[in-house]
Amino acid sequence: MKGADWYTYSPPPDSNWNWRNICKVKNLLAAGYQGNKWISDARGYSISAGYQWLQGSHPPVPWYKDVWDSWTIPKHCVIGWLIQRKALNTRDKLFQHGISGSNLCVFCELVPETHDHLFSDCIYSKQVISLIEHWLHMRFQTPPGHCPTVRRKVWRVVKLSHWYVLWMERNTCRIELKLRRPALLVSEIQKTVQLRIQQKMSSVIQQTGSVCLNSLGFNS
Ligand SMILES: [Zn+2]
Repeated sequence: MKGADWYTYSPPPDSNWNWRNICKVKNLLAAGYQGNKWISDARGYSISAGYQWLQGSHPPVPWYKDVWDSWTIPKHCVIGWLIQRKALNTRDKLFQHGISGSNLCVFCELVPETHDHLFSDCIYSKQVISLIEHWLHMRFQTPPGHCPTVRRKVWRVVKLSHWYVLWMERNTCRIELKLRRPALLVSEIQKTVQLRIQQKMSSVIQQTGSVCLNSLGFNS
């Protein structure tokens, strides 16, 4: 390309694969420039600015904060994120792709196993949710409305923890054909949540959130 203008340069058809791909990326990013000026950031081009520009703008989904909260447990966040996106390999999908011989819910074996059924509508999951609601003294399926931040954070930890435990129980049941009583799952959720809350409580939150936490049976 000696003497050619880099911005308008096109690789010859017989050039190698790597070079053609480098030029392809160049053409893609060239659209982000006006003259020599990078259009999306006044400070100029950077890898992060280029990445953001390529991604485009996506408004955050309403459930974003309820999954990716600083109090929620990372492995629970991943499962929660997949559930919100309905991206877990539930039996309805596996059956559709010929991977599973049945599309029925592993828990009740009555209804096709979809995300909505598994985590909300199944009689087994409903029993777990009912016990959690009894423990929390609040409706659990929908986020609490106007409430202290700490209560909302606790709700997020419990919500994701219950999703995670249900999914793990579903996987164990699928392989070992054993299903624990709902009360045992809730006991596991309570222990996990209590440990997490204790880890996360700073002295400030301890003061402002002690009433809320005590009402949930935590010894703050
Ligand atoms: Zn079911």
